[in-house]
Amino acid sequence: MSSRVEEIVRRRVLTEVEKYPVFRRAAVALSGGKDSGSLLHVFTESYPDKEVIPIHLNLGIGGFSEASERFARMQAERAGLHLVVFNLERELGFTILDARRIYPKVCSVCGCFKRYLLNRIAFELDADIVLTAHHLEDFLVRMFKSVLNAGFEELARFKTYLPKNGNLVAKGRPFCRVPERMIAEYALLKGIPFLSEKCPIGRKVNIERFRKTIEILARRQSQKLLYFSSLTKLAEMLQNCGAITIQELKPCSSCGFLASGETCSFCTRVRKIKAFLERGQASSSPNTR
Ligand code: SF4
Ligand code: ZN
Repeated sequence: MSSRVEEIVRRRVLTEVEKYPVFRRAAVALSGGKDSGSLLHVFTESYPDKEVIPIHLNLGIGGFSEASERFARMQAERAGLHLVVFNLERELGFTILDARRIYPKVCSVCGCFKRYLLNRIAFELDADIVLTAHHLEDFLVRMFKSVLNAGFEELARFKTYLPKNGNLVAKGRPFCRVPERMIAEYALLKGIPFLSEKCPIGRKVNIERFRKTIEILARRQSQKLLYFSSLTKLAEMLQNCGAITIQELKPCSSCGFLASGETCSFCTRVRKIKAFLERGQASSSPNTR
């Protein structure tokens, strides 16, 4: 017999997924945490006919990344699926810890890498859609921040589903109406193994402040859903009113994936990090002393 939480989570996921155009193969971003572990579980249970490819990015953040990969493997195995792992250090020659030496606000570069790599891997594996486990509070924080900082372009670009665009695979966020607390309950109910440790280098002070504010404002879960609907409507109005110009995308001069600039931010940052590390190696090598 299923519990009330299980029913709500499943129903909200189904409501979202049914809005997407028909798809065959889904890539699911699996971090090893409770959110993506639960997403993989609820999705594979609800859609046994779909092909699912779990993808894990090992960012090279010491023991944290090792543990994350271990949990992602357990979650994939439990679902009877093979986990695709992209190891940053092996594939690119550096880790997120290296990237932090040149980009102290590392979450922004890490987020950029995760978005880019998930898309590239999903594209290469011929997936029709990438599913990520962003939940209700993730969306509320992002939208609240945009409104309060007058980031209207960012708000106008806000979507819980992004259709395929050339080599950019469609993106879906089936947990967008599910509060984090409910996901945690779901994970516990279903006995999903997950890593509860937080990333040791993430500095999300602003995000935490916004999260706390939302918790104070929304005493009940239903209020969060109300804020979500209001902000989504505002985002749609901004998209439709013509006041915001949505930038045209063109192929990155280096990798060919669609981007807003001449060279995409992933390629630009990778080049910078590699140059920085090479300079460091050259200056510490005996020949250059
Ligand atoms: Fe990357 Fe920041 Fe998340 Fe850590 S907290 S995994 S650095 S985005
Ligand atoms: Zn590029």
